[in-house]
Amino acid sequence: MFQVSLPSTGQKLTLRPFLVSEERILLEAARTENQVEIANAMKQIVNNCVTEELDIDKIPTFDLEYLFVQLRAQSVGEAQELMLTVDPHECEGDGQEVQVSVELNKAKVLGLENAKTNSRFLITDNIGVEMRYPTIMDASEVGTEVDAENIFAMVKKCVKQVYTTDGDIFEPDQLDAGELDTFINSMNSGQFRKINEFFDGMPKLGMDVTYRCPVCSKSMSKRLEGMANFF
Ligand SMILES: [Zn+2]
Repeated sequence: MFQVSLPSTGQKLTLRPFLVSEERILLEAARTENQVEIANAMKQIVNNCVTEELDIDKIPTFDLEYLFVQLRAQSVGEAQELMLTVDPHECEGDGQEVQVSVELNKAKVLGLENAKTNSRFLITDNIGVEMRYPTIMDASEVGTEVDAENIFAMVKKCVKQVYTTDGDIFEPDQLDAGELDTFINSMNSGQFRKINEFFDGMPKLGMDVTYRCPVCSKSMSKRLEGMANFF
């Protein structure tokens, strides 16, 4: 058993390492290269290993990724070999691949201090939306391609509440079918941009690593961001 803090809230959680059978679920999901299956496998394993009550479907992506990487470090081992591309520094080593060993337990959530505390956006004079950060299922269901349709779908999924300046609050499922669509469609580009900035400012799992250029041995550093680096 080991303890970690949930990055978004600081809640202390006790986890057990995952079992070989659970690791197999993960490897099988990874082989499909299907984002929804991989997300489901990660969710299932984290859920199995956390001993406290935790609504795994509600935590933002960066919380789940953080718990998963800490679990992996404790279950499979802290050291992980990664291949990096050497950053340009006017050397023949530029762009070459270099193998680096990182300690998974050093991965942390970057940008937490910038996480927006104000997640409310006024859309009309008296009606607004309160947004939440996407969960891993939101992110994997919507898809990674950044086009208007996906952004619209993500905004719609991540509306936590619709509120009025009079103090009324509506959950998305209290609205009629299509009402939320119409409401989101009524946003002007400035409002839409602000909501996009909220998403862009979402904290990310990451790590700063140092490596040496294989040609000139110069010490370099790189910030790794996102789960793909640690899977
Ligand atoms: Zn070099």
